Amino acid sequence: MSDASGQGGRGREKFAAVKGMNDLLPPQIETWQFLERTARDMFGTWGYSEVRTPILEDTGLFVRSVGEVTDIVSKEMYTFTDKGDRSVTMRPENTAPAVRAYLEHGFAQQPVTRWYYLGPMFRYERMKTGRYRQFYQLGAEAYGAGDASQDVENIALAHAYLKAIGVQHVTLHLNSLGDAADRPRYLEALKAHFAPHVPGFSEAAKDTFERNTMRLLDSKEEALRPLVEAAPRVGDFLGEAAARHFDEVKALLSTLGIPFVVDPRLVRGLDYYTRTTFEFVYEPPAGDSALGTAGTVCGGGRYDDLVRQLGGPDKPAVGFAMGLDRLVLLLEALGKRPARRPLLFVATMDGALKAEAVKLVTELRLAGLCVDFDPRGGKVKRQIERASALAARYFAVYGEREHQARTLTLKALDLPDGDPGKETQVGLDGLEDWLRRQ
Ligand code: ATP
Ligand code: MG
Repeated sequence: MSDASGQGGRGREKFAAVKGMNDLLPPQIETWQFLERTARDMFGTWGYSEVRTPILEDTGLFVRSVGEVTDIVSKEMYTFTDKGDRSVTMRPENTAPAVRAYLEHGFAQQPVTRWYYLGPMFRYERMKTGRYRQFYQLGAEAYGAGDASQDVENIALAHAYLKAIGVQHVTLHLNSLGDAADRPRYLEALKAHFAPHVPGFSEAAKDTFERNTMRLLDSKEEALRPLVEAAPRVGDFLGEAAARHFDEVKALLSTLGIPFVVDPRLVRGLDYYTRTTFEFVYEPPAGDSALGTAGTVCGGGRYDDLVRQLGGPDKPAVGFAMGLDRLVLLLEALGKRPARRPLLFVATMDGALKAEAVKLVTELRLAGLCVDFDPRGGKVKRQIERASALAARYFAVYGEREHQARTLTLKALDLPDGDPGKETQVGLDGLEDWLRRQ
């Protein structure tokens, strides 16, 4: 497609994918599909229905919800003006679009709504391992219930999913940010803490201090680290209701046997969170660097005010988003690639018999069996090589003899987990059943 053919002798231009945006290709795509399959099965079982919102949204939606002074809105969004002169943004996250759809389509009239989504998000970030400009999130949101059991159900789903896909060394970090009504007191303490040091701040940090002091807590500036470490903790400023709620969350997590650590410094990079916030963080034994510095595989929490902020009724909500790219990296590092291998590879003969062989392969495929052949045909030796490259378990020639006898000779291929050299005669009529038993 990159050939500018017929363009007056211009050379052939070569294109590469846009920086920070990855092609997801075989064989790694099997891992992606495994994650997606498992999610759809599991999230459905837990009572969450899938929603798919558009990639583009009104820019204002993210400015209003995520918050103007966050990293996402202030520097990471792919925003442009479309041909109708509207400012649109490629979604950097899916919580705000989901709330937008929830309100737009009248779901807020239902008592409880549970949704999940799975798809690409876009942030113009500095790239490194596990941090891309197009990345994929799997998220689950529950609207309508403020009870601690709803927080815990949501957390338990994330926990169960991480367990089901087999990632290890992931720890649940938990905190409470309190209610909007608890914020002013905390902000006052936070401002008092930072104020004496502001003259020495970078311009960016000064701006953050002025416009959204809490955001200093998740600033990536090294110079701020000691000051952030020593800052007052939001958990010490919880009102009575928020404190009780947090206790209930912790107790119920313990009842369900879900381990967690309370992390009083955990604040998240979006403005809409209230009360419970959590992250699942990859914390491997020393030396492992599968994710580099991008260790958070899931972030979430309660956002009881967002639905109202976006023009809806009072509807408490809680949700999380998982970074699928990071989960793929973890599974690949563990060598856990689910393989889709042909059960049988049929070698074809050139000529009239080829049609019979293709028919057999097609019938087995229609019966749901993973069976393959090489459309190029050619020497049997070449076809065996192709079968081995695909890691097929059995290999059989479909020739004149086999056609007359209506019987194939299935050879187990020489694979680590196979039984090399073993040969079995199987009649064509019983072939489907025989393969199914393997
Ligand atoms: P981080 O602190 O790593 O920047 P975040 O707080 O910006 O994460 P969220 O907006 O909460 O992340 O998104 C939830 C999850 O999505 C993250 O925990 C991470 O696993 C994943 N994620 C976020 N940004 C990226 C990215 N640029 N590339 C890949 N995954 C990402
Ligand atoms: Mg980020």
